[in-house]
Amino acid sequence: MRWTNIDKDGQPLWMPDIASLVADRLANPKKLMNDQHSAKGLGDSILRQLYEKRSSTGSLRLSQSGACIRQLAYQYHHTEEDGLGIDAASKLAFIVGDITEAILASALIEALEGTSIGAVHHALSDQEEVYMEVPIRPGHTAKIAGHPDGYMVIMSQDSDPINAVLEIKSMSEFGFGKFRKEGLGPNDSYYSQVQSYMHCKGAEWAYLIAYSKSAGAKDAEVYDDGSWLPVSPLHGQWIKYDPEHVQSIKDKFRRVIQSVEPEEIERPHGPNKKGILSFPCDYCRYYKRCFPFAEEHVQESRWLKKNQKIKVSVGEHND
Ligand code: SF4
Repeated sequence: MRWTNIDKDGQPLWMPDIASLVADRLANPKKLMNDQHSAKGLGDSILRQLYEKRSSTGSLRLSQSGACIRQLAYQYHHTEEDGLGIDAASKLAFIVGDITEAILASALIEALEGTSIGAVHHALSDQEEVYMEVPIRPGHTAKIAGHPDGYMVIMSQDSDPINAVLEIKSMSEFGFGKFRKEGLGPNDSYYSQVQSYMHCKGAEWAYLIAYSKSAGAKDAEVYDDGSWLPVSPLHGQWIKYDPEHVQSIKDKFRRVIQSVEPEEIERPHGPNKKGILSFPCDYCRYYKRCFPFAEEHVQESRWLKKNQKIKVSVGEHND
């Protein structure tokens, strides 16, 4: 098993590399040992995508802890959506995401089964609902709900158990590459989401495991010395509880709830010098409300990316 070094109270502490455990279990199929698995539960979560309609119910969720504040205000005030909609392609992406996230949770449960490394709780169909309390004014506190993917008790190498929130995410090729290189920080929306969950659970740590939606069996990484390894489709990070960041999330939710209309909140994002919107605005469900003169057009993308692929060479002596 691989270990990863986290900083605990200024001291280095070695923790299991959960992503490599999951990758090993996926690569080595064997009899299922844990009885938490529910084929029906897995099927139900996928079928949900065929009947569940996402609408502007007005309720805020902890999964949106890192979302644009003005976008949250549009949703909170039941504004009719007018921006990027949900079509068949996005539904398929959600379905693939749901299936993969569920199978990764199952693989992790199996990987830990019968070991002294730790265990996963409240995952899959046993997910918990947690609440963040946000004081709005004297006598009025809002409760924002969320559903962490799970909760882990993991033994560190010095044998102290670590309580951690588990979060599983699918990422685009670009997002996954950035996550592997730089890790998550306060400007990443997933960072905010896990901070909210840690706050609700009183956990000091979270482990976020991500998989690349476009991982290829032939993808390789070449190091400075010329050596190479296949790129793992999974990568994870231990993330420490950050109370200041949680306070900023609470302030954001409070500001949204106290607003009278979305437009009183300034846009935190905007177009580039050429007037083009980029992420998160071009993926926003309200961009035509937020920028009433926004228009879609098609443009050739010149985003070419070099990549490293594993090739098989037979050499010259192939008789
Ligand atoms: S268009 Fe951009 S600034 Fe406006 S609500 Fe959406 S994400 Fe926020």
